[in-house]
Amino acid sequence: MKLIPLPAFKDNYLWVLHDGQRALVVDPGDAQPVIAFLQREGLQLEAILVTHHHADHIGGLDAVRNATGAVVFGPAREQIPGTLARLEEGNEITVLGRRWRVLDVPGHTAGHIAFYCPDVDGTPLLFCGDTLFSGGCGRLFEGTPAQMLASLDKLAALPGNTRVCCTHEYTLSNLRFARAVEPGNQELIQYTQRCQERRDREQPTLPSTIAQEIKINPFLRTRMPEVAQSALHHAGVTSQDEVAAFATIRQWKNEFQ
Ligand code: ZN
Ligand code: FE
Repeated sequence: MKLIPLPAFKDNYLWVLHDGQRALVVDPGDAQPVIAFLQREGLQLEAILVTHHHADHIGGLDAVRNATGAVVFGPAREQIPGTLARLEEGNEITVLGRRWRVLDVPGHTAGHIAFYCPDVDGTPLLFCGDTLFSGGCGRLFEGTPAQMLASLDKLAALPGNTRVCCTHEYTLSNLRFARAVEPGNQELIQYTQRCQERRDREQPTLPSTIAQEIKINPFLRTRMPEVAQSALHHAGVTSQDEVAAFATIRQWKNEFQ
């Protein structure tokens, strides 16, 4: 199976997974790169997976569906135009001959879902939309900090070797913030170097892995003493629970220059 991040807009990735004949695409915010890729590679699109309702994730949905006849799978609790199979936690779908589990991951949007397959060529694979980024997480447009923390905990509990397919190339700017939160994290410094080298060669930093993110992503590390301490220091308060620590780090990131 081949896994390809098609670049779109300024920093989106439209993920395509294919076996040389049949393909799936995730969050086609723009139709043109998807249709061009399918034609060039001679692929038949089997399914479109949608994680949430934002325009940069569904803008090309109708055009890709009309051009290919692919079935669309999307979140049960969001406004997505057109015919689609509406999914929520506990549902499973079969795409490219594999079982995919649906996870509810509210926070960035209220009905955001993720798609998880335990075995793609021997390794688990996760399409997480704008919930988890390498070194960061999505902004809380519709959900609460408690919801987002629970969603990220759910993703962090997946196997460490799970490949994490995020929908934006935000890694380097996320890591700049992560270093402000945790200046002493050596793994973070080394990971930043590796990502910088990839960007210098105009390569994507993604997919990441769950194990990697647990080592470097401040939003998966809000219970680590260094991160909680840093949140305390930033907010200037004396006691915090884990949701308050998470909310502080998220708010700090929003203001970070
Ligand atoms: Zn979004
Ligand atoms: Fe997005």
